[in-house]
Amino acid sequence: MLNDLPVIVVGGGLAGLFSIYALQSRGIDCILVDENHEVAAAASGNPAGAVLPYLSVNETPTAKFYRSCFSYSKNILKNFSEISGHYPSSGAIRLLTSRRLEDVYRRLMEGSENAALDWTDVKALSADELSAVARVRVNGPGVYYADAMSLRPKNICRRLFDYLSDDSRATNSLVAGKLQARLGQQVIDIRESADKVSVLMDNGVVVDGSHVILATGRSWPESVGPFLPPLEAVRGQIAFVETTSPLDRLSCHLGFNGYLLPAAGGFNVLGATFDHGNKSEELVLADSMMLLEKLSHHLAEPYSGKIVGGRVSFRAHTFDRLPYVGAVFTDNSNLQEITEDGSGMNAPQRFKRLWLNTGHGSRGLQSAPLMGEILTRMINGESIEPHADIAAIVDPARYWANVKRKSDKKMMSSSGRQE
Ligand SMILES: Cc1cc2nc3c(=O)[nH]c(=O)nc-3n(C[C@H](O)[C@H](O)[C@H](O)COP(=O)(O)OP(=O)(O)OC[C@H]3O[C@@H](n4cnc5c(N)ncnc54)[C@H](O)[C@@H]3O)c2cc1C
Repeated sequence: MLNDLPVIVVGGGLAGLFSIYALQSRGIDCILVDENHEVAAAASGNPAGAVLPYLSVNETPTAKFYRSCFSYSKNILKNFSEISGHYPSSGAIRLLTSRRLEDVYRRLMEGSENAALDWTDVKALSADELSAVARVRVNGPGVYYADAMSLRPKNICRRLFDYLSDDSRATNSLVAGKLQARLGQQVIDIRESADKVSVLMDNGVVVDGSHVILATGRSWPESVGPFLPPLEAVRGQIAFVETTSPLDRLSCHLGFNGYLLPAAGGFNVLGATFDHGNKSEELVLADSMMLLEKLSHHLAEPYSGKIVGGRVSFRAHTFDRLPYVGAVFTDNSNLQEITEDGSGMNAPQRFKRLWLNTGHGSRGLQSAPLMGEILTRMINGESIEPHADIAAIVDPARYWANVKRKSDKKMMSSSGRQE
């Protein structure tokens, strides 16, 4: 399905850049288009973020998905973060602020095995033990994962972009494909034909590619919207707080019903609000104060530093909080025959050259590398083993299968009432 044309990747955030990373490593040339004049201008532009395994005692699709992402992405992220300003810290603490974490904590305390999860690096610790690890006194017990990382997403994107754009690497190597960047150009329409896909930019230029990957985060070109499953843009504000005592001692990610990251660049990042329906890009002081207030409930020593800044960005959320990665249907009107995996006798055709890699929600730092790899295998006609089960979990077809399941259930219950 690949021809001599490059693959066009729309979106220069973590999802787009890690897609190019996987494509280029097969010698595939790419064009990156982003409406902003620099990469990582949207959700991926936070100065700090964390990569932690998702712990759950139940083997849900979410737990399975993030476990695979974590083990796949760890080393790739480490490589790029070391050359882009790695934190001198690692590990993460999660205080017990959810039922899920309480269950994990209990299971760890009981010492019982859980075949579904690889918990070798995870420990249940008392408040005193956690305080010794964090070097800051905390109020309650929790879970500590030594393998988790605090990273700088924006730096990683910039470093990755420089690496991918380095032409000498492409000419000196047998495999590295080339990258052409078209920054500051918005994609407004995409048309698929038998042998290529054409992308129309807001400056009137049309570019042809063998495939297009939409890695556009919370939005996509309006003209393709009707074919795509819905996304919700959830506003997230982080506060930059002054690095004074005791935060200057913090050695690892501290998670509660918010999170605090170790100092970097003269401040600590305190996150994050989770605001449905609010589209404002303005920083709101009251939101940052609320984050500080939450933190104070979990610290056992006083902190009186100032708020020195912050950032607003938007998570792209799907209905089940897992990304959409794969091909979408050319016609969503006929849902009758769609089965869970998007097949079925009369199920509509899928686009052959238009692919999604979006909906990374609150955990794109760890999901983007594996999703780029899986999508590249699909586009390049390679086997997706050993990731076939993960590819099925993120297939965008699940959205319509879910719509159908709900409507079948409704019909069943209304026919039950009539009888
Ligand atoms: C407050 C907050 C804190 C977070 N903390 C963490 C964390 O600690 N750990 C973690 O793993 N994840 C975290 N995340 C999530 C993570 O940041 C995202 O999942 C990730 O950045 C998504 O990357 P993306 O490439 O899909 O989207 P984006 O980074 O949003 O990139 C999309 C790109 O597409 C471009 N674009 C859109 N439409 C068009 C168009 N029509 N034409 C051209 N270009 C277009 C945009 O300019 C943008 O650059 C956090 C998110 C938020 C909001």
